[in-house]
Amino acid sequence: MFAETERATILLVDDVPDNLSLLSSILREDYRIQLATSGAKALELVAASSPDLILLDVMMPEMDGYEVCKRLKANPDTCDIPVLFVTARNQIEDEELGLTLGAMDYIHKPISPPIIKARVRNHIALKLQTDALKRLSFMDELTQIANRRRFDDMLNNELRRAARQQHELSLLMLDVDYFKLFNDHYGHGLGDQCLTRVAQAIQAEISRPMDLIARYGGEEFVVLLPETGLEGARKVAESLRETVAAMRISHAHSLAAEHITISIGVACNTQSETNSAAELLKLADQALYLAKQSGRNQVKSWHHKKFTPRNV
Ligand code: GH3
Ligand code: MG
Ligand code: MG
Repeated sequence: MFAETERATILLVDDVPDNLSLLSSILREDYRIQLATSGAKALELVAASSPDLILLDVMMPEMDGYEVCKRLKANPDTCDIPVLFVTARNQIEDEELGLTLGAMDYIHKPISPPIIKARVRNHIALKLQTDALKRLSFMDELTQIANRRRFDDMLNNELRRAARQQHELSLLMLDVDYFKLFNDHYGHGLGDQCLTRVAQAIQAEISRPMDLIARYGGEEFVVLLPETGLEGARKVAESLRETVAAMRISHAHSLAAEHITISIGVACNTQSETNSAAELLKLADQALYLAKQSGRNQVKSWHHKKFTPRNV
């Protein structure tokens, strides 16, 4: 059904190994299978490698399937993984409870292999479609990098994490210099191409997996640098500025150079009084304004250190 690399993963949870073997024999031809014989083990596996679908037994010692489902649905990292109960409990109230807890479906034992196959196929198709839509909703269509929605989500998550773990967190705000003049002279089509090339070059230059570059709007980009202090962020910013300048995209009408350049404002959470996303963005924006005022094609930040990050 799928090539090996794009096979969907299904986690089967049941305290009776024979039940796992049976389900596994029905599904392993089409999917990657993970097995868990207890609720605790299931939660561990989900945290480590979020599967695409979970087939969950209800009656298990220690932690039953309802409790596992409740915990999965209460966690923002796992609440979107569809759960199908597979159970011998066939009272209407049991089924109602399972569905109320957020399960997508409720399948009765003894199972019928063709029905299991068909239902799983439908749920997996829906899950993959939802994942694809989610990816699209986080992506900027023109430049194919993250969009502002994704950035806002990440910034809030990372600010909370930085405060919790007492980490530094930096933010770069980048803006293409004299881009209106570029559009006016070369046309909107080449303007679009230029933005895409700049975005891709910055993306390629950002080296750590935790870093995020996003299009913030128009010809403005943001880069989020978790666990990075002001000096480190200034270095990253300077190398991004050099990377874009080195592309030598002709811009005959720029007053900053003969090619496309960017100005960058740098801010760090250690400078922030409120530790809010709005304040960090404002600090980066003010530093960007300073870079523009100082002649463009340069990196600016505020040097004074006001506060250390604090818990929220
Ligand atoms: P500055 O150096 O002060 O940043 O000057 P600027 O001309 O770059 O700034 P301004 O904000 O005046 O103009 C930004 C221009 O960016 C306006 C618009 O023509 C262009 N722009 C914004 N979004 C897009 C886009 O998606 N595609 C294209 N081609 N141009 C865009
Ligand atoms: Mg600009
Ligand atoms: Mg702008």
